[in-house]
Amino acid sequence: MTTASKCTAKKDTGDLPYNAKAIKTWFSPLPPDAVPLDTPGFWIILQGQTLLVTTASGSPELPYGPLPEGILPDAAPLGIGLWQEKPLRTVRISNDNTLPSGYEALPFFGPDHRLDERLATLAGRASQILHWERRSRFCSVCGGEMSRIPATWGKRCGLCREIHFPHIHPCVIVLVKRDDKFMLIRKAGAVAGRFSPIAGFVDFGESLEECVRREVREEVGLKITNIRYLGSQNWPFPSQQMIAFLADYAGGEPTPDGVEVIEAHWLTGDAIPSTSGGSRSIARWMLETFAINI
Ligand SMILES: [Zn+2]
Repeated sequence: MTTASKCTAKKDTGDLPYNAKAIKTWFSPLPPDAVPLDTPGFWIILQGQTLLVTTASGSPELPYGPLPEGILPDAAPLGIGLWQEKPLRTVRISNDNTLPSGYEALPFFGPDHRLDERLATLAGRASQILHWERRSRFCSVCGGEMSRIPATWGKRCGLCREIHFPHIHPCVIVLVKRDDKFMLIRKAGAVAGRFSPIAGFVDFGESLEECVRREVREEVGLKITNIRYLGSQNWPFPSQQMIAFLADYAGGEPTPDGVEVIEAHWLTGDAIPSTSGGSRSIARWMLETFAINI
């Protein structure tokens, strides 16, 4: 148990960054055709997983006014709502676009928290929207060009008239409990000593509970019971909905599948490394709420 982990624990998943509540005081979401493009406003300029900000005031702020000189967007600016009651537009720039003087690119993903939760959440929202915009230019049925359905994020194909809506991918994440220990895994590609709960995408024909049981069986060979819903988090990397559960161990020996999972351990709170669960994620919230504070 550590004091630091207790202090950072959130009351419930609704308070997690990347969920709408983190910005609702300042941000009013609107579809692009409802955001005026001819009046001054704020900019969300994304470069990879960083947000361009000015730091002249001492803390990161969104650019305001005309698009800064030297910024070369890869598409026309897209209005996504109002920020502090001013129009908010977003663009993405390439990694080789040199930043104008006075601007800094700060990560909205990962352990660098120079951006507060509010700006990280806003950047995540814009990134998720631009991901959809880039993947919805052409119809996946016939290849025709798509255009926006007014007042929505949906698109309609100009040739076959098929309608497409944003793709948000449901993904379960589960903390399996056995007495005072928790099943944590190291995914293939994760650095040594960094562990997370079991997670995976919902498959065709599955309930969320069936998905939880399957992922635990496939990834570590365990049986579970008493599956309880904990909460959810929007995860804009690029466009997942993370749905969290707690479950009790019911049988089997931990056997990593060797493909997606290379280590599987029963760990108690004191033995869980501080980097486990990932930054600002529901995985970290699960560990801090149920495992680390025990
Ligand atoms: Zn089509």
